[in-house]
Amino acid sequence: MPADSEPGLRIVVIGGSAAGPKAAARARRMDEHAEITIIQKDPDLSMASCGYPYYVGGVFDDRNQLLATPTGIVRDPAYYMNAKAIRALVNSEAVGIDRAGKIVRGRDLASGMEYDLPYDKLILATGARPRLPDLPGIDLHGVTTLQSIKDADFLRRVRDEGRIKKAVVVGGGLIGMETCEALNLAGIEMTVVELLPQVLPFLDWQLAKVLEAHVASHATMVITGNSVAEFLGRDGKLQAVKLASGLELPCELAVVAVGVIPNSSLAREAGLEIGKTGGILVDEHMQTSDPDIYAAGDCVESVQRQTGAKIHAPWGDLANLQGRVAGENAAAGNRATHPGVIQTGICKVFEHTAGSTGLSESAALKAGFDDVVSVVTAGPDRPGFMGGQLLVNKMVADRATGRILGFQSVGPGDASRQVATAAMAIMGGLTVDDVANADLPYAPPFSLAIDNIIATAQCLQNKRRGLMVGISAEDLKRKLDAGEVPFLLDLRGPDEYEMTRLGLGEHLIPLGALRKRLAELPDDPETEIICYCKISLRGYEGARILLQRGWKNVKVLEGGIAAWPYPKEK
Ligand SMILES: Cc1cc2nc3c(=O)[nH]c(=O)nc-3n(C[C@H](O)[C@H](O)[C@H](O)COP(=O)(O)OP(=O)(O)OC[C@H]3O[C@@H](n4cnc5c(N)ncnc54)[C@H](O)[C@@H]3O)c2cc1C
Repeated sequence: MPADSEPGLRIVVIGGSAAGPKAAARARRMDEHAEITIIQKDPDLSMASCGYPYYVGGVFDDRNQLLATPTGIVRDPAYYMNAKAIRALVNSEAVGIDRAGKIVRGRDLASGMEYDLPYDKLILATGARPRLPDLPGIDLHGVTTLQSIKDADFLRRVRDEGRIKKAVVVGGGLIGMETCEALNLAGIEMTVVELLPQVLPFLDWQLAKVLEAHVASHATMVITGNSVAEFLGRDGKLQAVKLASGLELPCELAVVAVGVIPNSSLAREAGLEIGKTGGILVDEHMQTSDPDIYAAGDCVESVQRQTGAKIHAPWGDLANLQGRVAGENAAAGNRATHPGVIQTGICKVFEHTAGSTGLSESAALKAGFDDVVSVVTAGPDRPGFMGGQLLVNKMVADRATGRILGFQSVGPGDASRQVATAAMAIMGGLTVDDVANADLPYAPPFSLAIDNIIATAQCLQNKRRGLMVGISAEDLKRKLDAGEVPFLLDLRGPDEYEMTRLGLGEHLIPLGALRKRLAELPDDPETEIICYCKISLRGYEGARILLQRGWKNVKVLEGGIAAWPYPKEK
């Protein structure tokens, strides 16, 4: 019989949403005899914050689903005690840590009573809070965030009451875009304002523009390269958002989603080391500068595995992974490690998905990978007869080694599958050539025989081998704006051309007719010819024909019309 009478290890966890409960549950699985207590400031535990936009948008109505296990049991203090023998103190805030005495000072928020909780091991999982710009009018009624369940309750009431007609989302990141969709579903006319030249900064510009065009098709305005200067109101109520450009956007609601800041003040006041991002400094064991204190989730600073850079990576999956490591190590000694992050993320915006893993091209260049090679491709995620939906993809690799650095995918197709596969390839250090021959699961309901990520790797392989010279939409636009006149060759059929076209003075020669109509091409073999079609597959085939028939300066417009981020004639 185990010695139940011996006092167990006292583990205290501060924070009870994602990382905290995961750490507590893992600690319990490691040590049946530990005394485990969670201190949670909010009234709820284990809130599925990632589900808030869908609750707000009315995708589901039962609020308890945000708090429940997959089998529908609400994770309240009774659940934690019964199922896991973990004491959860809700509405209770940790207000100080006495590291020398190994005591957490807590305060019951209902009664105001303070109490001391001794610990042998402490886990900090205090999360993050929304960054709120110091702007005039930020306190007006109608200016809010979507970070807490209270915010979600407020916005859900807005939806249910149906009184608000116009809203502005400040910030075009993941939460901003998801909030935009949620409120649009509630029938509210939406505008997104983003300071950067694009939404979703984890994407490169071109793919972000593909997404923005989709958002605009939902009668939602996206204003990039502009910022909010002031919230205007009357009688304490929001009436408009004024932008730095002077434009005023009338609205009754503004959701500020300009990022989050790690909640690290408790750790800082206790003298723990804080990183330069403001997150608590931890090592690969999720151990802080105090060996008896661990930390996990949105409150910590993470290491970007590919660059070694210290970053703040506030993602729900990471909070769970890190919480698991912190919980195991707190209970059983430092035997689990978390190796850092590669910044994999995904979100749904209307009928499009946008996902990214590893480094975007701009991030890779910023990180000092000065010789990167990339390609943009487009293609359906499944055969047409299975309802295939388009994806626009981008792969970034180190030119010399071919090692994949990043991958992005946007569109109505299943981007999640592509990004997840790419994340594993990047973590495994795979090269473009490895992925070009990847043995992935294939059947028509799920993918093409050559899945998008493989096709993208094959294109990049072709580029690296000199079989294809690509040109990005941005480079082509720059040329045209500079007055250069390359020979633009659209290789689609006339029906397709009638339906949609770039309208840049292109020449239409369907691929099937190309060999017979070579006389229509420039005589000078040095003339720059840019081939494309809807997705540039026929563009590539046309380019191969021309290159092998003597034309020397033939390029393929990467991603074709599907990835063209600028206005089209039709
Ligand atoms: C609207 C929204 C959508 C999101 N969507 C996604 C998504 O799709 N994918 C994804 O990966 N991530 C997403 N995230 C991010 C994800 O939710 C967070 O990364 C995750 O919740 C972090 O978990 P955490 O436990 O570290 O922190 P939190 O969830 O912030 O929890 C910290 C908890 O600690 C409590 N606390 C803080 N200080 C104290 C104290 N002194 N005493 C006691 N308790 C304290 C807080 O009240 C809070 O409940 C989304 C977030 C939001 C808000």
